[in-house]
Formats: sequence, C-alpha cells, structure tokens
Amino acid sequence: MDSAVGSAVVVGAGVLGACVSYHLARQGVRVVVVEEARPAAGTSGATFSADVTHLKTPYAYYRLNRQGSEEHRQLSEALDGPAWRHPAPLLQWADGDAAHQALRERALRAKGWGHDCRLAPPSVLRELAPAVDPAACGADEVVVHESTSWFDAPRFVHTLLAAAVRHGAETHYGVAVTGLTRKNGRIVGVQAGDRTRSADAVVNCAGPGAARVAAFAGVRLPLRQVPGLVTESDPLPGGPLTAILAAPDIDLRPTPGGGVLALSWDVDARLDGADGPRVDGLPQELHRRAGAVLPGLARARIEDARIGVRPIPSDGLPLVGEVPGAPGLYHLVSHSAVTLAPVLGRLAARELTTGRSAAELAPYRPDRAVPGDVQDENLRAMNRRRPQPRREPQGETAP
Ligand SMILES: Cc1cc2nc3c(=O)[nH]c(=O)nc-3n(C[C@H](O)[C@H](O)[C@H](O)COP(=O)(O)OP(=O)(O)OC[C@H]3O[C@@H](n4cnc5c(N)ncnc54)[C@H](O)[C@@H]3O)c2cc1C
Repeated sequence: MDSAVGSAVVVGAGVLGACVSYHLARQGVRVVVVEEARPAAGTSGATFSADVTHLKTPYAYYRLNRQGSEEHRQLSEALDGPAWRHPAPLLQWADGDAAHQALRERALRAKGWGHDCRLAPPSVLRELAPAVDPAACGADEVVVHESTSWFDAPRFVHTLLAAAVRHGAETHYGVAVTGLTRKNGRIVGVQAGDRTRSADAVVNCAGPGAARVAAFAGVRLPLRQVPGLVTESDPLPGGPLTAILAAPDIDLRPTPGGGVLALSWDVDARLDGADGPRVDGLPQELHRRAGAVLPGLARARIEDARIGVRPIPSDGLPLVGEVPGAPGLYHLVSHSAVTLAPVLGRLAARELTTGRSAAELAPYRPDRAVPGDVQDENLRAMNRRRPQPRREPQGETAP
C-alpha cells in the first residue's frame, strides 16, 4: 500500500476475512464485511484445521506458520479463552522403510529448527491416544509433536467477526461482490447486491473465489482449487480421541462434539472429476479407514461429510498484497490459512493501516515470479498423489 487507509471493504468471511477485519476494526478502520453466503460457509467450514506448522518448508514459511500458531494462543486468551483452540499432541507414523525414513528426516529437520517434537516407541500411543488400536501402527517409531493444536475454525471466524463488530465493523451476509469500482486507476469500492460500497481499500479474502474477485480488476491470481473431503463422526464410544493422528493414508482429529474428523489425501485424489467432485461412497471409505485406526468408530455413525475447496497458490505459498495495475485491491489468500490467519491478518492490517510494507510478507507478494513446482514439501507430496489437479478458470500464471 502506498498510503494508510481509513476504510476498507473486506470480501469474504472465512478465517482470513474475519481476522483481517478484526485487526483493521481494532485499529480504527471503518470496516464493511461483504460475504456472499454466511460466515465460515466456504473452505473454513469444511477443513481439517489442525496446526500444520511441522509440515511447512522452506524455513521462512515454517517460521510464519509457527508465528500463526503462537498468535492463535494469544488471540484465544485475549478474546474467548481456549474455545476455538484445542491443544493436543500430534502423532505421526508411516508404513514401510522409505516412508518412515522420510518422516524421521523431516522430524529431525523440524527439531533442528527448534520445533517441539521427538521420536518415541509406538507404546506412546497407549499413553497419548488410548483409542488407537495398537495393531494399526506397524512402525517401530512414532513422531510426537507436543505443542500442537487443532482449531474449531467456524468458531474462530464467529468470534473474530463478533470482536470486529464490537470495534465498529459492519457485516453484510448473503450478498455477493459482483464487480469492483475504480477512480483515477485505483480500486475504490465494490458492487454488491444493488449497491456500490466505497472505501479506501478492498481486501480480497474470497478464498477459492479470490481469482474471480481479482479478475474483476483484470488481475490474474496464480491459484488452483483442490477439493478435499472431511467426515465427522458422532461421539466416539469409550471416550474422545485425545490426539491428532497422521497415520498412513488417513488423518484424524477430535471434534468439538467428541467425535472424530477424518481426511485422506488418497481419497481426495479421487474427488477430481470433469463435472466437479464425485463423492459416491467416499465418506464411507474415509470412515472405514478411520475405523481401522480407531476401532470404537465401528459403533459410531458418520454425522456429516463436507467438501472444502483448498485455495492453493501455484507455488503453495500465500498471496498477500496489491498487484501493480490495481492499487487499492489488497489480496489475502492462502492454503493452511487456519494456522496462518492470526499472523497474516495482523500483518495485512498493519500494512493497510500504516501504508508501510511488512518485511515478513515480502516473499508472498502476488506478483512474484511463481516457479512451476510447489515450494511447500507437504503440497509436493499431495501433488504426487493427484494426477490432474483442477485449476481456476482465470489465471494459472502470475500477473
Ligand atoms: C480438506 C481440507 C483440509 C484442510 N486442512 C487444513 C489444516 O489442517 N490446517 C490449516 O491451517 N488449513 C487447512 N486447510 C486450508 C484452510 O482451511 C484454508 O486455507 C482456509 O479455510 C481458507 O480460508 P479463507 O478465509 O481464505 O477462505 P474461505 O473460508 O473459503 O472464505 C472465503 C469466503 O469468501 C466468500 N466469497 C467468495 N467469493 C465471494 C464474493 N464474490 N462475494 C462475497 N463473498 C465471497 C465465500 O462464501 C467464503 O465464505 C484445509 C482445507 C481443506 C479443504
């Protein structure tokens, strides 16, 4: 931004829109949130939403995620006690020597970066996650991440928006942004419903819809849309799951209601379809895989199955800031944005309210040269399982 803003329209009420709105409103900016559906109706309502810091590379991006994780703790203490943030150990294990060696090397690298993790014998499962069938872990070693959390993302969104409203933000739900207005070359507002809303800046937090919003200004964001399926079970008989689990081919975490949330990249790879995601039988497949790790799930039902669309920048790293040619339109889009929202929302608000660039955000400008391959190792692994990722119709290359 070349100057400080006194008013902003925030497009989208997911984790990023809620967080930047909170920080802007708190600093005295007149904020109007425009959301086409309702808060957390998008990806933030259909996400695994665990702290994924340990998966992140390169080092600067790992640090950014770690800062996000730390700021979740600070925000939850400041705003709502521990309500959306649920500390729990995260346990990882792998099948086969090569996969185990890769996991071990990643854990040692993270430890070298100061990450709170250790290698432990599989008996640690009895202590930290007694609901796990010991036979489900064939590995000699388990990686234990001690200081991690899972997040109730919809609750985070609602809490942050409520706090933004207490600081004067206005919210308009069920209204889509269908265009942007310009004056002297600068974006100065949005068309939403039957009216135009003017502001010093428009903040594009539309998640998987962000490329469409950018296109209203002639900007091409390098974004892909990657669908993911999560199932939520009703309460786990015998007591709740007490850890986040990254087992071969299935990830599991507790839910606020005492059930289990399941996700599998293998299953997600089967969501690709020419006519949109195909889900036939896939929730049952996820539930079956989850039950192979947590035998108690055989007596629980699938309560809900949701598909979220991951907004993934082409190199896997966040897109934050303006693009030349469309000053006044500030993009805030990222994968892993549940972990990152507190730090990205705070830094974006600081840039907008001061007009000064934050050094921490320098690697993430939307007009950077985006390499062909993903930077984040986690996404590289996911891409290997996905023969044909779907792409946003407008904009596969950096502007
Ligand atoms: C299966 C899955 C697992 C995941 N696991 C994790 C994880 O473990 N940890 C993690 O940190 N992240 C995870 N993520 C990623 C994370 O959930 C997303 O990065 C994050 O939710 C994106 O938030 P957002 O606010 O950018 O977008 P969204 O939550 O999608 O919010 C964007 C909002 O904008 C609105 N909108 C769109 N277009 C318009 C328009 N034109 N006008 C008005 N409103 C509009 C939408 O309705 C939506 O509510 C996962 C995602 C998926 C799908």
